[in-house]
Amino acid sequence: MERKCVALISGGMDSALAARLMLEQGIDVHGLYLALSWGCCQKDKAVAIAQQLGIPLMVLSVGDAYLDVIRKPKYGYGAAMNPCVDCRIYMFRLAGRYREEIGAGFVVTGEVLGQRPMSQRRQPLEIIEAESGLEGLLLRPLCAQHLEPTLPELLGVVDRGKLLAISGRARHEQMALTQAAGLSGYSTPAGGCLLTDEYFAGKAKDLFAHEERPTTKDMELLAIGRHFRVGPRTKVILGRNELENLRLEGHAQEGYTCLRPRFAAPSALVAGPWSEQAREVAAALIVRHTKPEKLPPAPLDFWINGTAWTAQRASASPEHQPMEVVKL
Ligand code: SF4
Repeated sequence: MERKCVALISGGMDSALAARLMLEQGIDVHGLYLALSWGCCQKDKAVAIAQQLGIPLMVLSVGDAYLDVIRKPKYGYGAAMNPCVDCRIYMFRLAGRYREEIGAGFVVTGEVLGQRPMSQRRQPLEIIEAESGLEGLLLRPLCAQHLEPTLPELLGVVDRGKLLAISGRARHEQMALTQAAGLSGYSTPAGGCLLTDEYFAGKAKDLFAHEERPTTKDMELLAIGRHFRVGPRTKVILGRNELENLRLEGHAQEGYTCLRPRFAAPSALVAGPWSEQAREVAAALIVRHTKPEKLPPAPLDFWINGTAWTAQRASASPEHQPMEVVKL
């Protein structure tokens, strides 16, 4: 077996330490960051950690196929809509493919036995290893002493005696080790995945209920603005501040139309088929969410995907009262 591994780098402390333990044993470590904009990993932190460790870092997008994991997880959800076991299986399969591609011997993760209630108990750890196709090839250096030896340990590629026996949720040991190693800039353990947030999960459920084939872009949009379902295939998203307005405008392309008021008010992104009715509802929602004293006298001027449009005063009449996605 090659003395070369793929180490999943999340930007957090645990994965940084796991990779570091391999480097200390002279293993050639190749970092892999799997990009999931709503997930629990942070790309800028992962890049910073890889730089400190002096290892190459490959950044891969999980792709739209990941959405099937959220839609129908074989092992169910955690506290909200987080399919942690299935999520890890999916990610570790990608890591396994990357391992084959670069000719690495095994895959390393920063998982710790007992740290997370859903995915890091002994049984889920075994399921994840088996279902990701990495049986014997998935090394968890931080808690390896609690687990069965993996192939790299059995073959002497990795010295099992130098691996750790950390378990549980406390992180004192990891913190001390990270400090001793001089590593910094990692994400805090509390940094969370949006799928564990009930409000975000409510919006995700609405998306899956109405879209047969949602995309990662649709998921990314769930993290921006206030969402209003105005039709089976149509949603209006209102920015809550100027940064969100700009982000919504950046999403204007085929299938997504942006109304940018030419007065101080939120922008609206219409996700779904464009129609006169969708335009009227979006304008009405903008008016409803603008302070009356800030509304200019009619008519009202907008940009629609960069083209000027003038509306008579849009009123938030009862028929323009779309269902807001509600908190679960
Ligand atoms: S919290 Fe769970 S679902 Fe979210 S990214 Fe982490 S493993 Fe995946």
